[in-house]
Amino acid sequence: MIKIYNSYTNKLEEFHPIHENEVSMYVCGSTVYNDMHIGNSRPIVFFDVVVRFFQYLGYKVRMVSNFTDIDDKIINKAKEENVEESVISERYIASILETYHQLNCLPHYKNPKVTENMNEIISFIELLIQKGGAYVVDGDVYFDVSKVKNYGILSGQTQENLITGARISENEKKRNANDFNLWKETTEGKKWHSPWSDGRPGWHTECVVMISNIFKGKIDIHGGGIELKFPHHDNEIAQAEVAYNHAIANYWMHNGRIDLNGVKMSKSLGNVIMAKDLLKEIGYGPYRLLLLNVPYHQPLNYRQELTNQAINDYDKIINTKKGLIYKLQIEKNITDYKVEKITDSVICSIREEFINALSDDFNTANGLTALWKLIKLMNQLSRQKEFDVQTIKESLTLLDEMMWVYGIDKVINPLNNEDLEIVSLWKEARNNKDFLKADEYRKLLNAKGIML
Ligand SMILES: [Zn+2]
Repeated sequence: MIKIYNSYTNKLEEFHPIHENEVSMYVCGSTVYNDMHIGNSRPIVFFDVVVRFFQYLGYKVRMVSNFTDIDDKIINKAKEENVEESVISERYIASILETYHQLNCLPHYKNPKVTENMNEIISFIELLIQKGGAYVVDGDVYFDVSKVKNYGILSGQTQENLITGARISENEKKRNANDFNLWKETTEGKKWHSPWSDGRPGWHTECVVMISNIFKGKIDIHGGGIELKFPHHDNEIAQAEVAYNHAIANYWMHNGRIDLNGVKMSKSLGNVIMAKDLLKEIGYGPYRLLLLNVPYHQPLNYRQELTNQAINDYDKIINTKKGLIYKLQIEKNITDYKVEKITDSVICSIREEFINALSDDFNTANGLTALWKLIKLMNQLSRQKEFDVQTIKESLTLLDEMMWVYGIDKVINPLNNEDLEIVSLWKEARNNKDFLKADEYRKLLNAKGIML
């Protein structure tokens, strides 16, 4: 049984999907005026593991994440470069999709864009007005938060707190301080015709509309970074409540942010690490290990040591896997190690520990503890003189399963004839007690990444 810490109820709850064996998920995506920094990549990687784990357990998962391709920041960047806004948004959509791919993320079911959902957004705003949850002032449309009983429920803010926290500036036309823009008349940037004015939709509406378009109703899991809880997610909840009289999602999950050396990452401070730069430097395996070493609720304080640690850890995992694969090949001429069923009791119990860890609110840190137990066992297996083919095969099969769930999987090709030739020369030298020569061959193999 999977348990999820639902940030809507602030409780650890058993997961019951709307449709048996199916999971519908939506995670708020990027505003496409820049590349992703490592903070933005945390939900992408974490929720990819959530999807993988559900799939591993046999669920059919539909995971959607949007691209916000209308925004003031995109307009400003387009002006700076003297190009159309779509040039900017398409450039960064392509770049971000490439980063997803480099991060070894499974392709999403859909990546909708705001510009492709404009008719639906306009109809949705009309519906909110009809239902009395929104009002028009000149060419603008606002959502009326006073029409929602529990406004701010997700972030746990009371109406009083909200009211004192927000002020209406003089040039704003809204009735309540927390009312937010559904439609804005604009003279700048790309605009669309609507019953109210030529303008653009507000940010908070797009996710509600896309979820309802794609999933035709409530979804199982809505995810995103903790910074989106308020006002973005509270505003999504409020709109769905007025428009459909139902919650938008059964479970809300929020990941903690990533700080850089103890300081909040911010582009204006210049202390930002771009995901694609770090990926280029260390690759997806260490990158994902670095993020998944920390439970997703917790903030992650990024520092150089974590990178070094993750690189070492990943090397250890890969070398253990390689070692046993080569050993099976060299000693027993076996290159296909996958088994249909794992029967060894120790390996079974490690698998159970792994599944239990991830079933407990996707605790990826505890899942890694199980993975390290397996690595320890595999290293023991590789040192045994009489080695146990079946157990080695089972351990490799489980390691592949775990690595796939974490998205750190890597195919190890069997040794080729040339490598095998050197291996047999190495063995021969050893048998002849010609240790100098044996050492030379060993070094030659090591240089090819073959550790024996
Ligand atoms: Zn959203």
